Amino acid sequence: MTVHHHPPDELLAAFAAGTLDLGQHIAVATHLVGCASCRAAVRAMEHVGGTVLAALPPAAMSDGSFEALERRLNESRETSVAARRRGQAFHDVPGLPGFLDSYPDSSWRWIAPKVHLRPIRLPEPSETRVFLLRSSPGTRMIEHTHTGFEMTCVLSGSFVHAGGRFGPGDFDFGDGAVDHDIRIDSTDDCICLVAMQGDLKLNGVIGRLLQPLIRM
Ligand SMILES: [Zn+2]
Repeated sequence: MTVHHHPPDELLAAFAAGTLDLGQHIAVATHLVGCASCRAAVRAMEHVGGTVLAALPPAAMSDGSFEALERRLNESRETSVAARRRGQAFHDVPGLPGFLDSYPDSSWRWIAPKVHLRPIRLPEPSETRVFLLRSSPGTRMIEHTHTGFEMTCVLSGSFVHAGGRFGPGDFDFGDGAVDHDIRIDSTDDCICLVAMQGDLKLNGVIGRLLQPLIRM
């Protein structure tokens, strides 16, 4: 897997500093699982952050590795025995990191022709919504803009837009300034993990008709 598109440095720094909300954290962690260069960058940032924090009480210090971060993420999310017992959520989704196994499973639902959405329900309140989006080959995503940011991690398949081609492992960061015109160019379904804040605004008559369906 060759990764061509990475999260912006500010986002990796915020991850290292632990200032992202859970939804954002999941999106960046999903990228890190498949991207050695961003993992190295986060480790370096944690090291710098650890030096700065050295004067603070021990509780404020990071123990400094991505693996530890992921472990802590797992521990804090496994809020009940039932959650641990489930442990198999999303196992049918290729490319999804194991730390989501303990989340409550959900099912795909139709939101538009050739497009299905599957929510990832977070165990704590988050400004950011997280969901999987599955689009069939040849799908042109409905033209849309959004009022907040949108992080997209490609799990399988690929899409193209004005910013380039995005395949497995790639991370696409969009904010309100981006007007997405996305086309699925893979021969198989394209499945992405999406973390989104704000509202998605669909343009055009069909888009406005679909708008109520995609609200979560
Ligand atoms: Zn990366």
